[in-house]
Amino acid sequence: MQRFAGFVYQQVRLHCHPGQPRIDITLQPHRGIARRCGRCQRAAPGYDCLPERRWQFVPLWGIPTYFCYAPRRVKCAEHGVVVEHIPWSDGKRPVTCAMMGFLARWARRMSWRETARAFQTSWEAVYRSVEWFVEWGLQHRQLSGVESIGVDEIHWGHGLRADNFLTVIYQIDAGCRRLLWVGKRRSQATLRRGLKALGPEVVKGLRFVCSDMWKPYLQVIAAQAGQALHILDRFHITGHMNQAVDEVRRAESTRLRANGKDAARRLKRMRWTLLRRASRVRGRAREKLNALLASKLATARAWDLKETFRYFWHYRSPIWARAFLDYWCFRAMRSRLEPMRRVARMLRAHEELILNWFRAKGELSNGAVEGLNNKIRVVTRRSYGFRTFHAMEIALYHNLGRLPEPESTHRFC
Ligand SMILES: [Zn+2]
Repeated sequence: MQRFAGFVYQQVRLHCHPGQPRIDITLQPHRGIARRCGRCQRAAPGYDCLPERRWQFVPLWGIPTYFCYAPRRVKCAEHGVVVEHIPWSDGKRPVTCAMMGFLARWARRMSWRETARAFQTSWEAVYRSVEWFVEWGLQHRQLSGVESIGVDEIHWGHGLRADNFLTVIYQIDAGCRRLLWVGKRRSQATLRRGLKALGPEVVKGLRFVCSDMWKPYLQVIAAQAGQALHILDRFHITGHMNQAVDEVRRAESTRLRANGKDAARRLKRMRWTLLRRASRVRGRAREKLNALLASKLATARAWDLKETFRYFWHYRSPIWARAFLDYWCFRAMRSRLEPMRRVARMLRAHEELILNWFRAKGELSNGAVEGLNNKIRVVTRRSYGFRTFHAMEIALYHNLGRLPEPESTHRFC
């Protein structure tokens, strides 16, 4: 253990209650070093002494360990009578900063419940530790140099109510990809709140904004970050396309089964095969897919449209890309498949924003939004243990925010 400036370890006692041993480390102020104000950390004359308090420390040899110390109060010229500066403590928290940092770091590798169990503390203590860690990080993070952001919606929990959606803002610059902000719901007000939290300087400095076609987002981005090139990114468009193919498959499958047709078998368990990129479908799945494509089923036509659209992303010039888009929409509109026609109408309505993808080519990596989106899903799926939105919010910042970390007097991991 290190020493704290101004304090000495006076006594270490091991309590051996059967079944629940405990280590108490009693600290005393160093006589030769002046006490300091808890708010400004300047030396100040003493005032009085408070009763002894206990702080939970990192368990030593697997035994719960506590710091015991009677804090003094000082009379600061500026702040009046306040509790002295205690280097291992932050305010009224019953856990030392070293322990909070320790739990928070482990909580990134294990679930909060596992962390609590491994270090003989409560879920609540882990929660508060991560919260403290994240708050510190958010206060000290640098937002200068953010040029590209991605705006995305995330579904969490059960149901489709407004509260089951989150709006997230990522930084997607090549040098730094991280979560910048997360907020409840996916309305205009949500995104406005998010941009406000980033501050006007960041919003004014944006060069690229990637988002989905969700209307409230489009409106807010146009109004607040008009100088940035707004791009509807590939990941979301592919998502809409896949959803449409799946809708065609489900409708057709229901129809065929109702009529007792054999063809219904061709569609059985084909969902993931159909959504995959054609070049990645191999083996038995490939045979089934070929058989399906040889049929006259609507699903086969929808699949063909989806695969054809992949060529769109290979263009370099926006002019040729636009020509291809026109051709594809024309085919989709004539396909008599309503979900595919809906995608075509959507693409047409947002043509300019989609073509911005080619105007920004080379400046933005196309996998950034998708990568962060996948990572968020990993965290929100673990969210059954989080209980509240706030808990999940801080877990997201903790895992994906790349936040700076508070310095600690002791470091264990
Ligand atoms: Zn002071």
